[in-house]
Amino acid sequence: MATRVATSSNQLNKLGVGKLSELPKDGKYGDFGGQYVPEILIPALKQLEAAYESIKTDFEFQRELKVLREEYGGRPTPLYFAKRLTEYAGSAQIYLKREDLVHGGAHKFNNVIGQALLAKRMGKQRIIAETGAGQHGVATAMVGAMLGIPVEVYMGSTDIERQKMNVYRMKLLGAQVHPVIAGSATLKDAINEALRDWATNVQTTYYLIGSVVGPHPYPMIVRDFQRVIGDEIMGQTLRRDRKLPDLLVACVGGGSNALGTFYPFVNESSVHFLGAEAAGAASLGKGSVGVLHGAKTQVLQDEWGQISETHSISAGLDYAAVGPEHSLYKKLGRGEYISVNDEEAFEGFRMLSQLEGIIPALESAHAVYAGVQRARKMRKDQLIVITLSGRGDKDLETALRYEQARGTV
Ligand SMILES: *Cc1c(COP(=O)(O)O)cnc(C)c1O
Repeated sequence: MATRVATSSNQLNKLGVGKLSELPKDGKYGDFGGQYVPEILIPALKQLEAAYESIKTDFEFQRELKVLREEYGGRPTPLYFAKRLTEYAGSAQIYLKREDLVHGGAHKFNNVIGQALLAKRMGKQRIIAETGAGQHGVATAMVGAMLGIPVEVYMGSTDIERQKMNVYRMKLLGAQVHPVIAGSATLKDAINEALRDWATNVQTTYYLIGSVVGPHPYPMIVRDFQRVIGDEIMGQTLRRDRKLPDLLVACVGGGSNALGTFYPFVNESSVHFLGAEAAGAASLGKGSVGVLHGAKTQVLQDEWGQISETHSISAGLDYAAVGPEHSLYKKLGRGEYISVNDEEAFEGFRMLSQLEGIIPALESAHAVYAGVQRARKMRKDQLIVITLSGRGDKDLETALRYEQARGTV
C-alpha cells in the first residue's frame, strides 16, 4: 500500500507545523483551527482551556471518568475479528472496533461524559448543546440526567420535524429542546443560537460541542476524550497480534470517531489512516478553506462563502465542515480521505448485517464499505481496524424507506 506521509520532522518543520502529536500549537493545527468567535466569548474559551488543563492531571477527575466509562458506558469495547467479512473481502485481516456497544449506541458518549464532568468541575449550572439529527442532543441529555445537570438543546425546526423520535428521547431524558426557526432551520442555525445563548449566559453555562469542531480548545478536548478508542485499539492489537494495525478506517462527519481512532497512532508512520466521508458532504474531498463554527477548516461553500446544503443518507455525516485537525492531516498527506456515496454505504450496511450479524449505523457503514474495498488491495498478513462508530437501530426507518424506493424490499 502506498503511503504518502509527511511526518519526518524535517518536512514538518518546513511546513511550520511542529510534531503532529503535540498539536494544537497556539490553538492552531498548521493554518487551521483558531478562535473565530465574537470577542465576548474569548474569556470563556480561556476559562475552559484553563479548566481543561487542570483536570488533565487531576487524579480524582480521571478516576471518576474511568469509573463512569466502565460502569456506565461499558468500556473497554471489544476488538472483534470479523472472520466472514475478512473471507468475503478475501485478503487483509479485518477487525471491528465495537463503539456500537457503548451506552447510547455510539461513540458520542466518550465525549459527552468527559465534557459533562468538566462542566460539573467548573461549577456550571446548566449545559447547552446544539444538535442536527439529534444524536448528540440525546447523548448529552443522557449524561445530564445521570449527573443531575439540566440540559437544553438547540435544534432546527426542520430537523425537529424530521427526527421526532430523537426529540422525544431528549424530552424523556429530561432535556429541554428549543426549536430554531432562523435560516434553513437546520444544524448551522442551531449552532448560531447555541453560541448566542452561551455569550449571554457564559457565567452559569457550559456549551458542550459534539465533535472535533468549533473554536479552540474544543477540537482538542473532544479529540482527547475520544482517543480512548485508539488507545484501546493499540493495546488490543499489540496483545493479540504483537503488532500495530497497517490501516485504520473510520467515517468522518465532524471527525471525532475518526480522530479518536487515528490520533494515538499519529507518530507511527507505518499506520495508514483512511477516513470515509459521505459523498454529498465531503468537506475534505470537495470543500475549500473557510470559517465555520468558529474555526478555520475545509468547508463546503459557494464562491461567496455561503455554506452549501449537504446531503447524506446518514444524518451524522451531513455536515458542511470538518474538524481542523483532519484538514491538516489531509493537507500533509498524513490521512487519506475518500468519498462513499449513499448506495455504497447501503452496501456496507447490508454486508455487515448479513455476514456478521451486526447492523451498523449508516455513518459507520461508510467506513465498512471503504475498509472492505481497501482490504482487497492489501496482503493477507496485513491488519485493518474499522471503527464501528454506532449501531444501526436508529436508522432502520431510513433504510427501509431507501429500500422501498428502490424496490429491493
Ligand atoms: C455523530 C455520529 C457520527 C459522526 O460524528 P463524528 O464526529 O464524525 O464521529 C458517526 N457515527 C455515528 C454513529 C454518529 O452518531
